[in-house]
Amino acid sequence: MEKINCLFCKTDQEDPILVQENGFSGRKCARCGLVYISPRPSLDDIKNMYSHDQAQIPSDTHTAQSFSKRMLARHHLAILRRYISSGKLLEIGAGGGYFLDEARKTGFEVFGLEWNTRQVEFIRNSLAIACESGMLNDAFEGTLFDTIYHCDVLSHFYDPFAEFLTIHKRLKTGGILFFETGNGDFQEKYLPAFSSFQYPDHLFFFSERNLRDLLAQTGFELLAFRRWSLLPQLVAKKAFFRLTKKPKKGGQDLSTRKATVIPAEQSARKPSPGKIIQTALDLLSFLLRYYVGAMLPKEKRPCTFILVARKVTGTSSPAKNDRRL
Ligand SMILES: [Zn+2]
Repeated sequence: MEKINCLFCKTDQEDPILVQENGFSGRKCARCGLVYISPRPSLDDIKNMYSHDQAQIPSDTHTAQSFSKRMLARHHLAILRRYISSGKLLEIGAGGGYFLDEARKTGFEVFGLEWNTRQVEFIRNSLAIACESGMLNDAFEGTLFDTIYHCDVLSHFYDPFAEFLTIHKRLKTGGILFFETGNGDFQEKYLPAFSSFQYPDHLFFFSERNLRDLLAQTGFELLAFRRWSLLPQLVAKKAFFRLTKKPKKGGQDLSTRKATVIPAEQSARKPSPGKIIQTALDLLSFLLRYYVGAMLPKEKRPCTFILVARKVTGTSSPAKNDRRL
């Protein structure tokens, strides 16, 4: 665990705590709106957590068949295909591989990167998609990609600046970066809407300003910035949890946290009333997020963002702006 300060403002000032969960503290930078865990778990702790299936969302949830996961993939592909519709596409944090499976159907040549080894096996064996579990820098023997995609993964990056610089390096000239992430620059009065911040899996929540700065400082030209309000989904989720679950007590330690392990292959095949209900809830979440959420106000509210950016090179090379924590 190490104390850190705002990645963007780089001051020595310790920001006030906004949220505490599972024994971890999220601090909010008053200057730029970044919400960050400090003290932060070490990179080894984080890798260990994902590789041993101890993340807040276990592998069987990712690999379980779900109509809504394919709907989400098709929704994102409809936006992506306005900018690029073929070539090599890499997903970072490929989950259960369903986005890659749908992208392949539309003509992309697909590749996955995933830290959870059970999910890697599922993507390789059940979906027959090339998937590796290492670091982006070394993955797929240096292959350059036309598109790099990630969804709800940015908040998990240990060093977002280093990761975006690596993404830049692994894209072809003019390549497309497409990602979705939740925000941190909402008013504090909306905090009670959240049932969980999934600490310590999530390390950062970004403001709009942070995301624009992150792209500009790592060599990307922003092509699209789309917003959806998360409030309807958050409120529905919290109401559901209140009806069905007892609240957690006390903190959690990364070294002792255990996930319920169901073999991925078994989980994907096994039909049950619970899975049908889960799929219905996932579908409801999808509709609340991207259809109801599209119609509601977004300013200073909890939102999810989709950003599309293009790699730029030459005079705007990110090497001049190389930043590390
Ligand atoms: Zn800041």
